[in-house]
Amino acid sequence: MTERIATPIRTRAIMERYGFNFKKGFGQNFLIDTNVLDNIADAAGITSEDTVLEIGPGFGSLTQTVAERAKKVISLEIDTKLIPILNETLADYNNIEIINKDVLKCDIDELSREKNDGKPFKVVANLPYYITTPIIMDMLEKHSAVTSMTVMVQKEVAERMQAGPKSSDYGALSVAVQFYADTNIDMIVQPSCFMPRPKVASAVITLKLRDKPSVDVKDKKLFFHIVKCAFGQRRKTLLNTLCNQGNFNMTKEEIGEVIRSAGLDERIRGEAMSLQEFGILSDKFYNIINK
Ligand code: SAM
Repeated sequence: MTERIATPIRTRAIMERYGFNFKKGFGQNFLIDTNVLDNIADAAGITSEDTVLEIGPGFGSLTQTVAERAKKVISLEIDTKLIPILNETLADYNNIEIINKDVLKCDIDELSREKNDGKPFKVVANLPYYITTPIIMDMLEKHSAVTSMTVMVQKEVAERMQAGPKSSDYGALSVAVQFYADTNIDMIVQPSCFMPRPKVASAVITLKLRDKPSVDVKDKKLFFHIVKCAFGQRRKTLLNTLCNQGNFNMTKEEIGEVIRSAGLDERIRGEAMSLQEFGILSDKFYNIINK
């Protein structure tokens, strides 16, 4: 490998050479620990067959590490100021393509057709924390273009993704992630591994996208609508949240009846319900709506 980018000395030298200042608004906390980078690449299980999609290359430290193992790396970077820097730091690699684009404005399905013959990517990233959830949700929904995601996120967000019923971390994100993927927290990463240091600890988590969702539901949109209602007002009972926000055009008694027909107590709260229970309930509503 050519000289590694992710050392404190080289990172400072690049900053000085280009007069670069970190932008908080873009979530720029760059990795300066090569062991962490190697561990991310190990956790992602990258082979020479893989095309990797990276979000936010920064100075190219993770891009470089991944490019050493992958067939190709496509990397999306929003910050125009980083493009000339990346052209220099990654000049030795002919299997990297940097695209100056906002990931949230990028159609991943289209990208896989244009850049990877329609085949799915492995996603690897030290994510910009201000948009972790929208990026992950978008990729989960576009699961045909992604096989796995190995991403650095705030530790607390990684824990929310893995949380189960009755824990305070359990919420709509937990349900969505566990619906589409199997998860594993690969490592906890301390703030000292970044420049500048984030205020909180981070974690690398791998989401392996399932061939089929973990729960078989008749209508995914309806399932997630019920989940959203249930966690939108966490302290309220499921019956009350569905009456207030469900838009089912049903009386309270009728909604209570559906909840009971799913084998649930109508005083239950969303935070106590498993994915399977959300699935059964959503199918009961589906049957009534489509009667
Ligand atoms: N990969 C580098 C590293 O580990 O040192 C940088 C990671 S830094 C946490 C996040 C990166 O994402 C920055 O380079 C930032 O400019 C970029 N970024 C922020 N918002 C983005 C967006 N909407 N689309 C693409 N890249 C974005």
